[in-house]
Amino acid sequence: KHLKKYFPIKGGVFGRPVGEVKAVNDVSFEVYEGEVLGIVGESGCGKSTTGKALLRLTEPSDGEVLFEGRDVTKMSSEEMRKMRRDMQMIFQDPYASLNPRHNVGKILGEPLLVHGIGDKKDRAEKVKEILEIVGLSGDHASRYPHQFSGGQRQRIGIARALIVRPKLIVCDEPVSALDVSVQSQILNLMEDLQEEFKLTYIFIAHDLSVVKHISHRIGVMYLGKMVELSSKDNLYREPLHPYTQSLMSAVPEPDPDLKKERIILEGDVPSPSNPPSGCPFHTRCPKVMDMCKTDVPEFREIRDSHFAACHLYNEEEPAGQQIK
Ligand code: SF4
Ligand code: MG
Repeated sequence: KHLKKYFPIKGGVFGRPVGEVKAVNDVSFEVYEGEVLGIVGESGCGKSTTGKALLRLTEPSDGEVLFEGRDVTKMSSEEMRKMRRDMQMIFQDPYASLNPRHNVGKILGEPLLVHGIGDKKDRAEKVKEILEIVGLSGDHASRYPHQFSGGQRQRIGIARALIVRPKLIVCDEPVSALDVSVQSQILNLMEDLQEEFKLTYIFIAHDLSVVKHISHRIGVMYLGKMVELSSKDNLYREPLHPYTQSLMSAVPEPDPDLKKERIILEGDVPSPSNPPSGCPFHTRCPKVMDMCKTDVPEFREIRDSHFAACHLYNEEEPAGQQIK
C-alpha cells in the first residue's frame, strides 16, 4: 500500500544529495494466494525495485507491505529472517546470483542451513530432491555453476528459491537473460511448479508476451507508478490505459483478422528524477488532454476489478473503491 522507494542522487558538495530518483512512486496493489500476478513495464519503470522492496532486499522509503496481515516493513531483522522462508526471489541473471566458488550442493543447502531445516543428511537429501524437481540430476550437487548452461543455472536459481518451500516468489525477469530457445522451457517449468506447490508468484517482465501465458492478472507500470491492473483476459480484451494500449499493439498477433494498428510512442521515457507534472505519461500519450498536464489521475477501479490511472475514464462511475 502506497509503496515508495526514492533513491538520493549524490553529487552535491561533500556528496550531499542533489535530488531524488522516484523509482517507485506510490504503488498499491494486492496479490491473492495461489495467483500469478504479472508486472510489466519498460526498463526503469520501477518494477524490479517494487519486487525487491516487497522483500526488503531494498528498504522501502514509505508505505506498507502486508503479508498475511503483517507489515513486513516494520519487522525486526530476526522476524524478517523468518519471513524470508515464506517470501523468496528468483533473479534475472542466474550467472550473477550464484556464487561461482560454491558447488550446487552448498548453494542449495545454504537456505536450509539459514532456516535451521534438517540435519546434514536431510539437507543433502533435500538438495537431491529439489534438483530432480527442477529437471536436473541429483548428481549435479557436486558441480559448480560454470559447469552449467544458462537455462540450467536458472533451474538452480529456481531450486534455491523453492527449497525452503516458500508461499510467495518474486520472479524478477527470470527468463530475459536466457536464449529464446530455452525461455519457454523455463517458463513451463515455473508454471508447473506454481501449480504443483500452490505457489503465489509476482512475475516481473518487460514484455507482455512473456507474462501472457503464466499470469492470472497483470499490472502495468510506467515511471514508478502502476497505471493499470486487471485480469489478464480483460487487459487483453480491452486495455484501458493508453500506455497499455501501446504495449499491447506491439505484441505480435498471429491471427490476421485481429491485427491491430501498431501504436508507436513518441519520445523517450522521462527521467524518474524529474517526472512530468500531472499524468506521468502525458509527454508521450497519443490521447493527451489539457487537464492531463496538471492533474494527477487517480489509480482507481474503473470497471469490475479493472484498475487504471487515466482521466479518459473520469466520466465513468467508479465500480468500487480505490485501494486505500
Ligand atoms: Fe493519456 Fe491523459 Fe490518460 Fe495520462 S491521463 S494516460 S495523458 S489520456
Ligand atoms: Mg529490472
